Amino acid sequence: MVTTSSSAAVSHVGRIRSNNQDSAYSGAHLFLVADGMGGHAGGDVASAIVAQRVAEADQSYANPHDAEFALQSALIAANSLLAETVFEHSELTGMGTTASGMIRVGGQMVIAHIGDSRIYRLRDGELEQITADHTFVQRLVDSGRITPEEAAVHPRRSVLMRVLGDVDAAPEIDTKILDTRPGDRWLLCSDGLSSYVAEEKIASILQTVTGTQAAADRLVKESLDHGAPDNVTVVIEDIGDVEDTAAGPLFVGSAAAPLSFENETARRPIRLPTLLLHPLKATQPEDAHFEPEREGYLEELLEEDRRRAIRRRVTWIVAVVVAIAAIVAAVVIGYQWTQSRYYVGVDHGRVAVYRGVQQNVGPIKLSSVYQPTTIEVSDLSSFERQNVERTIAANDLRDALAIVDRLQNAAGAKQ
Ligand code: CA
Repeated sequence: MVTTSSSAAVSHVGRIRSNNQDSAYSGAHLFLVADGMGGHAGGDVASAIVAQRVAEADQSYANPHDAEFALQSALIAANSLLAETVFEHSELTGMGTTASGMIRVGGQMVIAHIGDSRIYRLRDGELEQITADHTFVQRLVDSGRITPEEAAVHPRRSVLMRVLGDVDAAPEIDTKILDTRPGDRWLLCSDGLSSYVAEEKIASILQTVTGTQAAADRLVKESLDHGAPDNVTVVIEDIGDVEDTAAGPLFVGSAAAPLSFENETARRPIRLPTLLLHPLKATQPEDAHFEPEREGYLEELLEEDRRRAIRRRVTWIVAVVVAIAAIVAAVVIGYQWTQSRYYVGVDHGRVAVYRGVQQNVGPIKLSSVYQPTTIEVSDLSSFERQNVERTIAANDLRDALAIVDRLQNAAGAKQ
């Protein structure tokens, strides 16, 4: 059966942000996600400029190497366009954007990527992340300093090491060419999806929801259900036997609207219902931002990470010491209490006053003979003997001595 490729793109502002700084493009051959950043305005402009400029490379290519060259060139041209825009609109200084794009050429998929948006390929039920995040935490993971689980909650997880923007004239763009075949499902997404929806959940939705539009809608809904603190953008392409060259070009996110440089400057405050509905997710994540790789910056971040690790270790040690001190104090207080107790029992066939309690803690005895007597147990009546052998509890030392007196008299009377 001959199937046609199909694609869908969805972008949502999310539940907390006031504007959508993501852009995406879904065309006949080319697909792209861009996640903009920068001050109170600029992120939406940056991602829109890049999406619209790179979309110009949406054509049929003779071979994947031509497509790779065209995609990379389009990204570099878009980068220059960002610099020119900042030159004309200084209020946009510092804007930047991620860009993850792909062009299909027959059975090959050409990938170009910079930043922390992601491209995944679902094949035979297995979801594989194709791109590597250009983030500080990914560097820590790569160097074995932290685990991917620690990276997901790291306070610096939004720090990007590479983006397109007015900061770098020669951005370092990763490219690769992978094979693709009918049945493959490709996903491009911004971190508004991948940072808030677990990869297993993404995989299960891609495995089970048929139709690109339904699957894209479902993924965006999943992020919204998790509070969607960030803009969330999803592009899906299902590979069929025939490329869907009839697909009309579709822009979503900020690239879908005419470019505007009159951006609102104030952020909308976090609304109360959001806080109530999503108490754990409603905290605004630190803004994604780009940190140029200036001299010594990575070392500063690593130093900060080391200090955090030391703080964690110190906190842990203090907690352990406090716990041990509490246990020792409880034991001391408990032991002191046992030593204020008295009872009457038998010692070597004679009645004796014991200090402590009869119970032992493992091999540790909690009582000892406090005062021996000369009263032979054998002189007591069988009733009194049984009592003494079972031990007679006393309220205090006086009480214990009074019991001894009583036994003395009883033994005397028997004799
Ligand atoms: Ca984002």
